[in-house]
Amino acid sequence: MENKDIKHYHRLKLWVPLLESLFFFFMMILVVKFDVSIYLENFVYSLTQNDTFAFLLFVLIFSITGSLFDFPISYYVDYTLEKKYNFSNQSIGNWIIDKIKALIVSTLITFPILIVFYFVLLEFGKMWWVPVGILLFLFSTLLARIAPTVIFPIFYKFIPVEDSDLKDDLIVLCQKYNFDIEGVFKFDMSKKTKKANAGFAGIGKSKRIIISDTLLQNFNKDEIISIFAHELGHYKLKHLWKLMIINFILVFFGLWVSAIVYDHLVLKFGFQSVSQLAALPMLFIILYVYGILTLPISNLISRKYEYEADKFALSVIENKTDFISALKKLGEINASDTNPNPVIEFLFYDHPSLSKRIAFAEKF
Ligand SMILES: [Zn+2]
Repeated sequence: MENKDIKHYHRLKLWVPLLESLFFFFMMILVVKFDVSIYLENFVYSLTQNDTFAFLLFVLIFSITGSLFDFPISYYVDYTLEKKYNFSNQSIGNWIIDKIKALIVSTLITFPILIVFYFVLLEFGKMWWVPVGILLFLFSTLLARIAPTVIFPIFYKFIPVEDSDLKDDLIVLCQKYNFDIEGVFKFDMSKKTKKANAGFAGIGKSKRIIISDTLLQNFNKDEIISIFAHELGHYKLKHLWKLMIINFILVFFGLWVSAIVYDHLVLKFGFQSVSQLAALPMLFIILYVYGILTLPISNLISRKYEYEADKFALSVIENKTDFISALKKLGEINASDTNPNPVIEFLFYDHPSLSKRIAFAEKF
């Protein structure tokens, strides 16, 4: 792909979803401002007198409306664009099946969270943010633990990589750094896309090395090992734990601030309590703004950790040219924007741009 095309592809991939989420944000403001949320609250209570059912219906109306708007946009961003730029290997049928699977998985995950959240709002009143923060933290930790074995296999088939030089070398690398793994697995990413990916999945004892078949086809053994040396760096430098703590602080601080602002707005707009259904879209607006404001902070930390993991990889592998050629190949195969606009990079990139990473490796 030409550089101009790559820029265009990334511009669309960034701006279309961004404008969509801004659109939802303003819609929510209008929903509160023009009493649509009050109308909806009366509507759901006309169907049921049970608070929890009413809450779930209220959320359902929002999520169905949101999904109807979102479907054509995600069809364009995730399917049409990927086809147009020749990344996708998926038929439209398979894409829709994946979409339905994702909808079921996310519903199964969010449904219990929502019920607990509403229960907490009813029971704890203004202090809702304390139990919500604790539960969110516990739940996301649990999810990170079970995702590789429970959720990933819904979308990809994982096959153990047997007897190969690569597997032996990867195990030697892990043993050298006292790193427990459950096994080396490849997955059929080529069924969906030409892009490539690899990494460790899971935490604790259920860690696996996972490699996409697209990576195995296009990269030589030393390049793949240099990619894993980088991933190993993340674990050895305890980035996962550090990110979890940072996330914990960001989430708690965010919920605390949001609770104060929300409380203030509930009074100002004359709602009866923080748990009143019609007031809840305001909480969504506040959390959205907080999320947007903190994104550059978490990206800044993430990019710092990427450099640290690169540094670790470069000190572990025998030849830094393997690492550099792996980065270049990843850039090509995933059509990365090697030289993004610095402002865009600062705000939205969780990895440093490839040109910076390559320059860093060359200087090492
Ligand atoms: Zn990394």
